[in-house]
Order: sequence, then C-alpha cells, then structure tokens
Amino acid sequence: MKTFSCSCGNPLYFENTLCLKCQHEVGFDPAAIDMCCLDETTPLKHCANGAGNLLACNWLVPKDGTETYCVSCRLSQLIPNLSSANTAQLWMKMEGAKRRALFSMLSLGIPLQPLHDPNAKGAVNEHGQAVPLALSYRILQPLPNAPVITGHDAGTITLNLEEADDAIRERNRMNLNEPYRTLLGHFRHEIGHYYWSMWFENDPKGEEVLGAFRELFGDESADYGAAMNAYYSNGAQVGWQERCISAYSTMHPWEEWAETWAHYLHMIDALESFESLGLRKSAAMPKETIEKIVPLPKPFQSAPVAEFTHKLQTWLEITPAINELSSSLGHNMSYPFVVSAPVVRKLFFIHCMVKRQVNEAKNQPSTAATQAR
Ligand SMILES: [Zn+2]
Ligand SMILES: [Zn+2]
Ligand SMILES: [Zn+2]
Repeated sequence: MKTFSCSCGNPLYFENTLCLKCQHEVGFDPAAIDMCCLDETTPLKHCANGAGNLLACNWLVPKDGTETYCVSCRLSQLIPNLSSANTAQLWMKMEGAKRRALFSMLSLGIPLQPLHDPNAKGAVNEHGQAVPLALSYRILQPLPNAPVITGHDAGTITLNLEEADDAIRERNRMNLNEPYRTLLGHFRHEIGHYYWSMWFENDPKGEEVLGAFRELFGDESADYGAAMNAYYSNGAQVGWQERCISAYSTMHPWEEWAETWAHYLHMIDALESFESLGLRKSAAMPKETIEKIVPLPKPFQSAPVAEFTHKLQTWLEITPAINELSSSLGHNMSYPFVVSAPVVRKLFFIHCMVKRQVNEAKNQPSTAATQAR
C-alpha cells in the first residue's frame, strides 16, 4: 500500500477519513487511485455507505454522477441485516478488507469486470448453466439451519460474516491448523478464483496459457469434490512445503492458484508499504518538540534527555511503517497506539527511573552480582 498525502502536505493512510492537520474530511478516489481531501471545490463526495453517521466506507464517488455507492460497495450484492450493532461492526471490517483487496486490482491495473470481448465464453455455475462472469460479493451471516460456505462460483464470491469476528477466526485457524488466516487473505484468495475463471476459462486466449498453468499447478479438470474429500480426510500430501506455499494448496490446482495468487498480493502490497515507508522514515515528532515536553522530572538532578529523545523519535518514525506492513499482510495494526505529550512525559519518567536504578546497581556491584544469581 502506498502512503498518500493530503493537499495540506500531511501523510494520509488508506483507511483515513479525516486529515488531523487541516481537519478536512478525506477519502479514497478509486478513479484516481489516490486519497483525496474533500473541500468545497472537490468534485467528489462520500460513498453512501460512508456518508453521515455510517462510517462504513471511505471511498468517494463523483458529485455529478448517478452512482451513490462507490465501486467497492456496488459489488456487494448481499449484505447482512445491519440492525444489530455487532453485525454492523463485523460487516464494516469485511468491507474494509474488501477495499484493500480491490485496491491491489486498481493499483495493478487489472479490470474488476470482464472486458466486453464478443468471443468470451460465459461462465458455468454449479448447476452447469452458463452465466455472465460478473464480479459480485455476498457477505452472509450464518444461521443455525443455513451455514455459509466461503467460496467463489461464476464471479460471485460468498463470505461468512463470522470470519470478521477475531475470536471465531482464530478458533477456525487453530482447528484447521493454519499458520495464517486473515480477512484480507480470504478476499485475496477468493478473487484469485474469479480471475482464474476470467483469464483461463472465459477468455478465448486462455487456451494459450492453460498448458503452462497445468504444468505448474496440475490438471484442474480433476474432480473437485473428490479432491476436497481426500484433503479433509487425509490432510495435505507429505512434503508439500517443497512444492506449495500452503497445505491447502495441495487440495486442487484451483486452490493452489488462489493460494499462490493471494500470496503474490501479500508480497506486492507489503513491498509497496515498505518502499513507501520502510526506507523513508515518517516525519514523527520533531526532536525539539520532544525536548520541550520532557522537562526534568522531580526529584532528578539530571536526566538523559538526548538518549530518550533519540529512542522515542526513532520509534515514532518507524511505527507507521510497522503498522502499514502488518495491514498489508492482513493483520491488525501491530502498534495501535497514539503517543500523546502526557504519555511522552510518563515514558520519560520511566526512562529516568530505569537509568537511576541501573546507576545505583552499578555503584553497588556486590549486590547486583548477588541478585543476578
Ligand atoms: Zn490535510
Ligand atoms: Zn463505498
Ligand atoms: Zn479457494
């Protein structure tokens, strides 16, 4: 993910809705693939899911257009009933992961819908009927008599709302013995199936690349149901690590494509975050500001201001990059904190205490040595 900047110069991140420097509302313009500051002159407005009190979407639509929902929200064909606050929260997390997954498509320049090729073959759904291969999402809440199976069928991606619940997703991750399971990972994996259908099956030129696909991933005409039963009864084939990115990849060539595709997107997005932030330290709190807010605490005679300032400044410079990297990989922010001036003072006090105790221990070498044992 790129780091964006507001028209006032302040850095903006993909999920932002407000610029903390100029106090303008901000949002993502999918047409420009850029974050945009909303002032009176901007020809853009919030997506209907992001307008008013509903902060479910930070993407923008043209003010003079006919669309009230953004390109991401328009793809959601079915969403859960949002009358419960908890359901609404989970759905918002789902839509957030979806926007990040779709960002990669926009950023790579991959069309979200099939090109209008007159020779394109229609997709075939599970009942063997030809249907247009249009991308859409169904985000569904499972009911006792109606479980929701995550998957892709002829352009329609179904996701289980429960996966947005951290506790449930983590339990599923452990039960299935998976080292990695995230919402973003689900969105990347499933859209991988969609592009497989679009590029290998639906595109008349798909024949040209299908042979190469089969050489690497295997023959996808193998019975999917049988492959799935074999995987869930016997587990992954022994030695899969030497060939595949994940155990699940061994189930069927389609799954290996989707797993490898998702991995490619993890790599591209994290790399972009790293290039955008990791090499260039963020403008954090200036040294002078830190020095101003850390007066010598009582009862200290002298304090290691320079050392503390250096440590804190470096830390505040690298934490946005750490957060962006973990978000790119679909994890929660690694460092979800705001370090305010009072907190800086308290941290400095702890730093002074540590230095003081270290000095005291140094002056009493015998005690320190005894305690160390
Ligand atoms: Zn601004
Ligand atoms: Zn939207
Ligand atoms: Zn899959």
